[in-house]
Amino acid sequence: MNITSPKTVNEMMKRYGIAPLKKFGQNFLIDGNIADKIADSAMPKMQERKKILALEIGPGLGALTQRLLDRAGKVAAYEIDAGLVRALGDTFAGRDEFTLFHQDFLKADIEKDIGGLAEGMHIYAAANLPYYITSPCIMKLLESGLDIKRITVMIQKEVAQRICAAPGDSEYGAISAAVAYFADAKMLFSVSPGCFYPKPDVSSAVLSLDVKRSYSEEAKDYLQVVKGLFAMRRKTVRSNLRQSFGLSIEHAVQVVKSADIDGNARAETLSKNDFKRICEEIKNIKKNI
Ligand code: SAM
Repeated sequence: MNITSPKTVNEMMKRYGIAPLKKFGQNFLIDGNIADKIADSAMPKMQERKKILALEIGPGLGALTQRLLDRAGKVAAYEIDAGLVRALGDTFAGRDEFTLFHQDFLKADIEKDIGGLAEGMHIYAAANLPYYITSPCIMKLLESGLDIKRITVMIQKEVAQRICAAPGDSEYGAISAAVAYFADAKMLFSVSPGCFYPKPDVSSAVLSLDVKRSYSEEAKDYLQVVKGLFAMRRKTVRSNLRQSFGLSIEHAVQVVKSADIDGNARAETLSKNDFKRICEEIKNIKKNI
């Protein structure tokens, strides 16, 4: 079955009595070439297929799922919508390598669900993400204890640009600095609204995150510092240090000085290494208070 043909999408909608739901960010992919390109980018080239578990968020009618099943040993997917879960159950009936969780991905215990399934395998996440929860989905994957090698997601183009932005760029923000800790981000290609049914109001892009570091106590502290220093975006690092971490002016000055940062700088100019050094210096100060 050609899941990306608009005719099939329409027929399936009728058969299952469903219609695209805005509240779940449902814009189905109706371009087979784009679905192939995402699946190809998501999967490693030099890895034995049976060693790969593809983790998908929001399989919808299965446009990407079908292609992931062609390229991976196992596919595990989370779908929130009961109508789509029924459709997916029929489409992939008898495919034992496919595990579907009828669940809100953001509430799922993914370490428990996927940990056992992925034993002896490498995890590659792929999705045409529901755009209303892009950043939480990406952060959940990065902050999970799962050994995820790469995350390939289609998201709103503007958000992809934000995630890939470098310190000092106008788009650079907390999400760019947070993702940079864990992964090398790259925007692979743009996708026009005409490739979806229904057409979204925004342009899309496919983002690739090559994961270099897993979640740890150090990561937790780093993310807290990023959040704290971006809390008041227009204020200086020094002011944010005082407000977010309850430091006195003397201690805030000491932190920026020891971390070799200009205290008048703003978080939007700081690199991953700057945040890391500030993190260390906050810890040092707190030890001595
Ligand atoms: N992968 C399909 C495709 O490319 O055609 C559908 C993509 S559509 C943009 C987003 C999908 O995510 C929908 O199937 C929607 O029901 C599902 N979804 C939305 N919120 C979700 C959540 N919190 N957890 C799991 N799935 C979700």
